[in-house]
Amino acid sequence: MSEDPFVAHRSLLFTVAYEMLGSVADAEDVVQETWLRWAALVDAERRWHGLLAAEGRPLRLHTDAPPRSVAGRFFGLVLTMLGRTRGYPCVGGGSGVLTQQLVERALARGVELRLGSRLDRLPAARRAVIGAVSVWELGSIVGRTSRVRPDPATLKVDWTLDGPVPWSAEAARRTPVVHVGGPGRFVLFGQYSMADPSRAPAGKETAWAYSHDLQSADAIEAAIEALAPGFRALVRGRREERLAPGRLNGGTARLTNQLVFRPRFGRPRFADGVYLASMSAHPGGGVHGAPGWLAAQAALREHR
Ligand SMILES: Cc1cc2nc3c(=O)[nH]c(=O)nc-3n(C[C@H](O)[C@H](O)[C@H](O)COP(=O)(O)OP(=O)(O)OC[C@H]3O[C@@H](n4cnc5c(N)ncnc54)[C@H](O)[C@@H]3O)c2cc1C
Repeated sequence: MSEDPFVAHRSLLFTVAYEMLGSVADAEDVVQETWLRWAALVDAERRWHGLLAAEGRPLRLHTDAPPRSVAGRFFGLVLTMLGRTRGYPCVGGGSGVLTQQLVERALARGVELRLGSRLDRLPAARRAVIGAVSVWELGSIVGRTSRVRPDPATLKVDWTLDGPVPWSAEAARRTPVVHVGGPGRFVLFGQYSMADPSRAPAGKETAWAYSHDLQSADAIEAAIEALAPGFRALVRGRREERLAPGRLNGGTARLTNQLVFRPRFGRPRFADGVYLASMSAHPGGGVHGAPGWLAAQAALREHR
């Protein structure tokens, strides 16, 4: 095999380019252009670009935007860059700890919490309402319909396992999040005890997966079994949950629902004294708190 990584991966690059462009001539042009740019880079830059190229592609499948679309590529790149520069943090003790800490913080600031009841109309006495529910839910509360297209339904499965997942690929055995791909299927798989030992007793594992494509927990297990023979035999307990469309991201991640197209971009005010603060608002789903912060800032500006 040639010493130069570009030459060594040339045919793979051609296949990827052809898959994206659908034309031999265009794919050859792109590979040629990439070669010229590669030749002009210094070593450190080559390493960086190589990582982005290698890792950006599976990460594009994280959203419902098609992997070859501008939005799909954008997400792949952003997630790769975040992973490379910041890593993907996970919460020690499980995500419930995050909720618990937010509750403690709110209580310490005098917030009154009422749990277990569903709100179907706005409270009578109020200065401002920060609606941390989907755009459809807030719409139904204030009596307005929303035309935002939902992201697809999701099947989520949780497992308790008798041991670590026996992935054939060595790298997958030491990474907390694994992207399982293949024709017509994408499964996101999490195995966090290697990052947070409190998730499972020593020698055991807890894992979860979700998919927008596969329709049953058995199909998800089959996809994992194909890459990790022996996985099924480790399953001790399984729980599955079907999440309705829109439940994961509060609206599609396609370009038609990003930035200025996302509901209330730059203007979180939804109705008189009501602000949209959920994953439906800019910048979209994820545990980052940005929609709530933007909505709270707008409410403070207008109600001081
Ligand atoms: C399976 C899965 C995996 C994910 N993985 C990640 C990840 O790894 N990293 C990441 O950053 N993000 C992840 N996300 C996305 C992230 O969890 C969401 O984007 C985020 O939780 C959205 O926060 P939110 O406050 O807008 O909505 P939610 O967390 O959904 O909170 C809305 C709350 O409002 C309540 N509610 C709704 N309507 C009413 C009503 N009428 N009255 C009273 N209460 C109501 C709901 O019951 C809910 O408790 C994942 C999501 C899912 C579903």
